[in-house]
Formats: sequence, C-alpha cells, structure tokens
Amino acid sequence: MTENSKTLLDIYHQDQVEFDVENSGAKEKRTVIWANAEELIESVIEKRKLEGFYLIKIMADGGQGFFKVSMTILPANDDPAYDSNLADHIPGKRSRYAEGGMVGKRANWTSVKKLIMLAIVPKIKETYENLKVLFDLTQLNNVPFKFVAYFKLLLIVNGQQTATSTYPCPYCFVTLDELRYRDLEERNVMPSADILKTYGHLKDDHSRFCADGKNKKLARYSNSTVNPPLFREKDDFTMLEKCPPPELHLLQGFVNHLFWSGLVPILGKERALLWPKKLNIIHKGYHGEVFEGNACRILLKEAERLNDTEICQECGYFRIFPFIAAFKIMDQLVENCFRVERRPCNVEKLVGDFHKVVESTGVTITLKLHVILTHLKGSLEFLNANTGLGLWSEQAGESVHHEFLKYWDRYKINAIDAPSYGEKLRRAVAEFSSLHI
Ligand SMILES: [Zn+2]
Repeated sequence: MTENSKTLLDIYHQDQVEFDVENSGAKEKRTVIWANAEELIESVIEKRKLEGFYLIKIMADGGQGFFKVSMTILPANDDPAYDSNLADHIPGKRSRYAEGGMVGKRANWTSVKKLIMLAIVPKIKETYENLKVLFDLTQLNNVPFKFVAYFKLLLIVNGQQTATSTYPCPYCFVTLDELRYRDLEERNVMPSADILKTYGHLKDDHSRFCADGKNKKLARYSNSTVNPPLFREKDDFTMLEKCPPPELHLLQGFVNHLFWSGLVPILGKERALLWPKKLNIIHKGYHGEVFEGNACRILLKEAERLNDTEICQECGYFRIFPFIAAFKIMDQLVENCFRVERRPCNVEKLVGDFHKVVESTGVTITLKLHVILTHLKGSLEFLNANTGLGLWSEQAGESVHHEFLKYWDRYKINAIDAPSYGEKLRRAVAEFSSLHI
C-alpha cells in the first residue's frame, strides 16, 4: 500500500458479528469491516480540505458477494439554512462546519469515484436485523443524513413489511388495493395518500403491533409495521424528507413496466422488441427481462419511433399513442426533475398530465408509479429550489460493487473463514476509501 492508500486505514475496524447469512436460515458469524460514521466523515472532510455546510447521503445495497453501506459527502453549496435544518432534527447535533458554502461541480461529488465505504460484510441477507447491526456499529444515527436505497430496503429501514403487504408505500398510508385499482377521480381524493408517514407514525404503529402480540397476521392493523424504525428522527419528521425516492429505480421501473406489462401484451413480444432493436438497445435477461438505466433514457427520448408501421400496423397507432405520450411526459419529468440540477417546470401539471396518459395505457399502477404520481412533487419540495433527485440518486451505491472489486482483487481471499481474511478485507476497504478522498 502506498501512503495515500493508507490514509484512512486506522479508522476501519474489523469484528466478528452474527448475521442472517445467505443460503441459510440460521445466524452465523461473519467478518464485518466498519468505521464510526462521525469519525469517518470528519476525517474525509479534513483531508478534502472542504469548508462550509455538508449533506451526507447514505446508500445500502448488496452485490458481488458483499453487502455494503456507503456514503457520499456533498457540499451544500447554495443554501446553508437547508443543512442546518437537517442537522436540527438530530437532538444535540448541529452541523459544526463553518458557514460559507462552496460551489463545486456537484455532479462530481455524487460519482462512485468519490464514494466512501462505511461498512461491508460478505454474503449476508438484506434483513432488518442485519441493517440494524450495521447502523448500530457505525453509530450512523449520530450524524445527520439522508438515506437512499431501492424500495425493499426503504421498507426495511421503516420497520415495514414488503411491497406486497397491505400497506406497501414507505411514504404514505395507501393500501395495495387502493394503489392498484382506484381510478383517476377516486385516487385524487384518496385520503390515505395525503398523510405523509412520519417517524411518530412509525413508532405508534410499532407499539400497536407489540400490543397485538407481535402477530404478523394482524400487521395490517399496524399499517404493516412490524419493527421500530432504524433511523432516529423527531416524531414529525417525514420519511419522504429522510429518504428521497430512488430516481434510477423510478425510471427503470416505469419504462420496464410500460414495456413488458403494457406494450408486449398488445403488440406481441417480437413486434414490441422491434422498437429497442431499431435503436440498437439490448435488454438483459439475468434478473428476468429488463432494460437498464441508459437503455431506459434512450427509449424515453425515442418514444416517437414506436409510431412505425412495422411495429403498430396490426393494433393501430391509436392504441399505441397513450404509451408514446406517457414516455414523452416521463422524459420531461426525468429531464427536469431527475438530474442533479433541477430545471424550472410545472411539476404539478406534468404529473397531472402524466397521470391521465398512464391511465389511458391501461397498465396497472405499481408502487414505483404510485411514488411518481403521488410523491414526486412533495419529494422535490424537501430539496433546494435548484436541486433535482439526481443529487440524491442511489446510482453510485449500486456502481460500488464493480468499483470495489478492482480493490478487492489485489487482496482477495475466497475462504471467508481464513484467519487473514478480515485484515485483507480491512485493507481493501481502507484503500478503496482513501483513494476516493
Ligand atoms: Zn405513497
């Protein structure tokens, strides 16, 4: 290791802790490498010689054999008050960095090359208990942060059941039936989606679940909440503010749902696939059939190409038109609201129009569609005026798996119970983070 690659070595600890492990119903001891969140953040800020207010983005995801909790440190360049508001929600914890913002290329700070590892464990399941161990070890709740992850993990950190439970939304109290089947008029007056879920609600719901004898069959009476929330926030703090919707999953979820559950049944798979084929886009088959982020962006941009006699000669253009319209409005939402910098636009009007065209495609409303339709506008209101969801994207937290392998390859030991495994992993993690300063 060179000096630069050892900068953060002393901050990382290794432990043997019991986790729910992959391919087993039992708990087993696993090596975990972790850092104290506050100490790590202080150290990175000092080494980067940064001044001003900071926002912390925490990401969690499993991949390439490791579950990882990683973080991005973002300068809050244009609205110091915003950061101090965030810090105010942690009792006794205010941002201690001097006022005076810094202007930087904000997109660069969100890159996987600037990502710092907070904790890593090989081959464990993504469960409530496992996340709790990692958040406790790192004392994550001692720092102010926002958390981004895909919906399964968002529900887990809330203490909720899965996205197929009676109450599937991490942000509100909509039921699965309301979400799927209500029509436009009814959904507009759906009171359960008007109340934003707060940490107070989550705590109350968990108390009710305990009072009901922790019987999972009765979990619907506690709004599908079965564990206390993992994040410590004031009772009136909303989930939507703490956990911005994951923009990449919203984009992918929307495009794939409209394509596979909307266009394919109407056009037939072969004819539907002519559209991406003519754009030289391939779909990947390893997790079922799916278009990934870049492919989704191109499809949105090229929605008009669906109007092709070869593609819609049998069903007719008018059946396909609502899909083209829906893709086009989604493209505008992505362009205006999903980037790092938000562009001025009338989100309410766009979402309203989007709602109508999505309904006329005839596809069912999924959780991701519900979040775009019901929570996109509200989620932006919790961000700075010129900040888009892209600043809080979960993307780097997923690219981290491939990026970490480059470092791990130099230390790699396959046997996770080998005596030297922990130290090798600690060194790989320290090098990864040190060279990402
Ligand atoms: Zn909701």
